[in-house]
Amino acid sequence: MKYLIIGALGFALSGCASIEGAQAQQGSNSYTLPALPYAYDALEGAIDAQTMEIHHGRHHQGYVNNLNAALAENAQLAATPLEALLANAGQLPAAIRNNGGGHYNHSLFWRLMAPVGQGGEPSAALQEAIVRDFGSMDAFKAAFNRAATGQFGSGWAWLVVADGALRITSTPNQDNPLMDVAPTQGAPLLAIDVWEHAYYLKYQNRRADYLTAWWSVVNWNEVNRLYEAAR
Ligand code: MN
Repeated sequence: MKYLIIGALGFALSGCASIEGAQAQQGSNSYTLPALPYAYDALEGAIDAQTMEIHHGRHHQGYVNNLNAALAENAQLAATPLEALLANAGQLPAAIRNNGGGHYNHSLFWRLMAPVGQGGEPSAALQEAIVRDFGSMDAFKAAFNRAATGQFGSGWAWLVVADGALRITSTPNQDNPLMDVAPTQGAPLLAIDVWEHAYYLKYQNRRADYLTAWWSVVNWNEVNRLYEAAR
């Protein structure tokens, strides 16, 4: 029965953000660290190279390694696509929920950023939806920043599509809006990591300053693509 439930959820989520880099390689049960789509120093100004190198090479690699180790101990789950696993997070072993979420979230996060000037702009369709659901682009950014600064401790802030509407939410730890345990579920369009490991070397405790700078490296081209896939 559990397989049927997971399979159905996987099918239901097939229109959601598919994180190619987060998928297990075909024919293999092991996940791999996706390459960054830019150099470690490409986001300097918003995120320093040392933070990127540690964040990608150690933190994200750690989630991948720990996810593979946890799946080796739960072989009945190893063939289930990651999105389908996460949709059933409430019943997962904690190590798979945390590290599977960590792998999914970071694989998405890297692609949601681009060097300053290379991320494009929100599409006309996305801007229209933002104005419709938040009033203005400035109001949207303010609400997103509030979710990110208001997330107590480690976690993420998100823009998602849920039932055709844009919504902002936040999650603790490595939870995400694909999870059945998330307060707001939907297809992620934009996400920011507000764990201290994402910003502490450059910003120390100044999470708000990290947020302000981060908007300059948002990859709107990818956000637009995810919106078109999810709307
Ligand atoms: Mn992180």
